[in-house]
Amino acid sequence: MTDLDTSQWYFSVMSKQANPVLSRRTAYVEILGPLRAFFICTAIPLTIYALFFGCSEQFGGCPPRLDHDRSFLALTDLAWYQGLWDTQATMLFVAWYAFCVLAWAILPGDWVFGTTLRNGEKKQYKINAFSTFILALSLAFGVIFLGGPQSFTFLHDKLVGFITASVIVSVLQAVACHVMSFRPKALLSIDGNTGNPVYNFYVGRELNPSIRSFDFKSFNQLRPGLILWILIDISMVCEQATRFGGFSQVNDSLWLVLIFQALYVGDILYHEVTRSAPLWLVLTLFRFQRHIFSQVDITTDGFGFMQSVGCLSWLPFTHSLQARFLVFRPVALGFVWTTLIVLFNSLGYYIFRVANAEKNDFRNGENPKNLQFLTTGSGSKLLISGWWGRSRHPNYFGDLIMALAWSFPTGFSTPLTYFYFLYLLALLIQRQRRDDDACEKKYGKDWKKYVELVPYRIVPYVY
Ligand code: NDP
Repeated sequence: MTDLDTSQWYFSVMSKQANPVLSRRTAYVEILGPLRAFFICTAIPLTIYALFFGCSEQFGGCPPRLDHDRSFLALTDLAWYQGLWDTQATMLFVAWYAFCVLAWAILPGDWVFGTTLRNGEKKQYKINAFSTFILALSLAFGVIFLGGPQSFTFLHDKLVGFITASVIVSVLQAVACHVMSFRPKALLSIDGNTGNPVYNFYVGRELNPSIRSFDFKSFNQLRPGLILWILIDISMVCEQATRFGGFSQVNDSLWLVLIFQALYVGDILYHEVTRSAPLWLVLTLFRFQRHIFSQVDITTDGFGFMQSVGCLSWLPFTHSLQARFLVFRPVALGFVWTTLIVLFNSLGYYIFRVANAEKNDFRNGENPKNLQFLTTGSGSKLLISGWWGRSRHPNYFGDLIMALAWSFPTGFSTPLTYFYFLYLLALLIQRQRRDDDACEKKYGKDWKKYVELVPYRIVPYVY
């Protein structure tokens, strides 16, 4: 097909799908949307590689140093690209994805309904991400128990090969979902049905690409990438244990990073859906419910390049940078720093959890703390005291404190290990603006009144 034929085909299929409910045309496209989409589709995989090569033992550190005998020399002797394609890593990555699908299919789990979709239907989701996490951890610990720490260093050793595999698989997955979106009865996302194929591919054309009851979006948001992140951290601990002569020699800094991040992921997966049974007794104090199936990523955003590459490739390989750094630049924190960092992380966790619990309780019709609220014209109410009286997104504030607490164990020798914090800061500011715009549309002048009462966006008294 010539380029002209391809675009004619694209538009003819789009017009055949022109159903006002299922495939409403996107009314608003961001400025320079298609160009931005193209730029981001290229920049994301390149940034994942840049963070790998820019913070790597092989090339002299974080960032690579000119004066290091193996730094730029290594980059120019053309040997650096050899690990980029690794057949074994690719097969292992595909096997990991297949393992997650299999676990989704065979592990027991309740089926719950999501929110009502535009076509009046409700999607059903199987709730077993947490058990997949536990199964994966048990298998990893089993391997380490039987084979010692060196048996689980393959993720560390072949990381760049795994990155390539993840980029290929996630792009193929996004392409497959884009092609599937041309099914006559596909429900398209409200943002991904413009006349521009690049933009649609990037944002995600179909709202919920699925094969029978298997839903790509919720699967990718919670399973292969998120769990792999923690397996990579574990592999980094194993690498340090192998180098230093046992787990007892592993630095406190690396343990902290692993424990903080594993607790965060465990928390997300445990709270995949609203549930009243607490994980640990202490959590009953807060009863955080994540409501993943009512979040905008699930209810409104399409599943395209952004979510596919974001969940499967970007997340596990950029979020594990601190642990990877600590393998080749070990940091011994000592008791005082460890205590301070644990306290700081706990503060972030507390704010994150209590803020989310206050809102979720309130949205479930409960108000155990007797918090003050504003009744809006739409009938819905907005909290104006407790954490939601201190800022309009206190839960983001807690998340940001935790992100910083995960970087502190790496010390201050490089800004690169603070990348996750800076990325999350940018992401949450963008998300806050998007959410505030949506709330302004929804609540109109009542939202303006709310903003006057609660002027800070994320950080109380600062922003
Ligand atoms: P929120 O949980 O903050 O939910 C926003 C919604 O809450 C609004 O649309 C509005 O919905 C409702 N709301 C806003 N203000 C009030 C109020 N005063 N009283 C009652 N309800 C209010 O947003 P997210 O879904 O973005 O985030 C959920 C969690 O996920 C957060 O803890 C966040 O930190 C975390 N997260 C983490 C990311 C990461 O990469 N680590 C990325 C994204 C999120 P309505 O009025 O319709 O109920």
